[in-house]
Amino acid sequence: MHLLIVEDDARLVRLLKRLLSQDRHVVETASTAADALEIAGSTVELDAIILDIGLPDRSGFEVARRLRHDGCQVPILMLTARDAVSDRVEGLDAGADDYLVKPFAYDELLARLRALARRPPTRRAARLAAGPIALDEAKRRVTVDGTSVDLSQREFSILECLLRRPGQVLTRDQLLDYAWPYGVALTPNTVEAYIHLLRDKLGAAADRVETVRGVGYRLRDD
Ligand code: CA
Repeated sequence: MHLLIVEDDARLVRLLKRLLSQDRHVVETASTAADALEIAGSTVELDAIILDIGLPDRSGFEVARRLRHDGCQVPILMLTARDAVSDRVEGLDAGADDYLVKPFAYDELLARLRALARRPPTRRAARLAAGPIALDEAKRRVTVDGTSVDLSQREFSILECLLRRPGQVLTRDQLLDYAWPYGVALTPNTVEAYIHLLRDKLGAAADRVETVRGVGYRLRDD
């Protein structure tokens, strides 16, 4: 297998690299989220990514989300030091396929990697939520306080983009790139028009979609 290990614990990386290489796996390593994204983005033939949660620059969750958002389908095995249910759930929601609690036995790591490699690649669908708003990607369904809301494809995409980065300000250009990925020539005014429609349909939850003057929009998540 061709593997990428993303881990900032140099000792663990050395050990894993040595063991995996002995077992004839090809191993790339990254000690930061930035390196991980660069290597994953430029290596086409990766079979699996072993991803630590605690990285010096960004969390493993963010790395997984970014990779999935960018269309990366490589199976991700997340390493967590804590056996907290919330970590596992967040990891799986972020796009990880499996997780392993540290410290782990090398044989178990191998078994998990083999299982991941056997799985057919799937388009991963997320369930996203903020306050009363919930979005189910697989079913392409949005609800506010449990009541279904009928959104057009673009409205759905814009809401999905905002929900993927709750609390973060997204520029009109970022929303354009996400909702119209094929480079259709549109102006940022188009985004404004769609945000207007989206707010209308979100009803009581409309104020969750906040305008950040001169910059873009933000989904309030509390
Ligand atoms: Ca770490």
